[in-house]
Amino acid sequence: MKPHIVVVGSSNTDMIIRLDHIPRPGETILGGEFFTAAGGKGANQAVAAARAGGAVSFVARVGRDVFGDQAIEGFKRDGIRLDGVLRDAKRPSGVALIFVAKDGENSIAVASGANGALRPGDVGKARAAIRGARILLMQLETPLDTVAAAASLAQREGVRVILNPAPAQALPDSLLKKISLLTPNESEAEMLSGIKVGSDVAAARAARKLRQHGVETVILTLGARGAFVASPEGEGLVPGFKVKAVDTTAAGDVFNGALAVSLGEGSSLWDAVRFANAAAALSVTRLGAQPSAPRRRDIDAFRRRFRKI
Ligand code: ADP
Repeated sequence: MKPHIVVVGSSNTDMIIRLDHIPRPGETILGGEFFTAAGGKGANQAVAAARAGGAVSFVARVGRDVFGDQAIEGFKRDGIRLDGVLRDAKRPSGVALIFVAKDGENSIAVASGANGALRPGDVGKARAAIRGARILLMQLETPLDTVAAAASLAQREGVRVILNPAPAQALPDSLLKKISLLTPNESEAEMLSGIKVGSDVAAARAARKLRQHGVETVILTLGARGAFVASPEGEGLVPGFKVKAVDTTAAGDVFNGALAVSLGEGSSLWDAVRFANAAAALSVTRLGAQPSAPRRRDIDAFRRRFRKI
């Protein structure tokens, strides 16, 4: 049976123009190439968890517009349960306008729209889903009081909470105490702990410091190096998989979605982090955010291949 994962978070449409250089204020550049992609950290993680083998319920807000329609079509294709996805009559769907220059530099403006209106009451309506879940997975692209309300609800119901603190913002200890697993990347860990994460030794110090604020387990993702785990069962680096990286967008989102599924299946923390490293490594070999999230059979095949080497 697939483990039930509830994801509370954002859904955006990314509108990307690839061009020669990023326009300066007042400048108009012709000759760009345009494409759209489904995005938003919540949606990315929900899709990643569904493809990695979870039975996923998503709690989010999108507008009553064509972007909301398209996002919902995408979730349906991935078999995500949508009872918790509300259509906001007053606000547009979240949109990110992204310029990507030839040299890889980018510039991004986000209009959160309906994501900014995801309220604690919306989470309350998803109480039954959260009660029946193995894991509640969240990020910080929706209002903090909503994240806090969902964490409280999960804690009362005995459901483990994974918080991916992205984009980084200061978090009260009252919230951190309700988090079973906190999964910052290096810059988020730096912002939250005040410790510069330049080495594995510094990563260990930052992770320990975050645990002192009441989080049970910290999994600090370290890009190609893998992830540093600090938990009540011990600490250590879980090395990443060596791959040829093509596009690291949403590596963290795939890591979190896969981590939730593996923990939901009852794997040990260390096995779950290895599984998440594998899924995320596979995703960086592919272009795009949601398109790059791998399916379970591909993750399993990738792990078998690596075992043979
Ligand atoms: P974020 O995408 O949130 O900035 P990271 O860069 O730390 O987070 O990446 C998250 C995870 O993705 C890492 O812990 C690792 O498992 C995997 N990963 C990221 N970049 C690479 C890479 N170049 N090669 C292999 N795995 C990678």
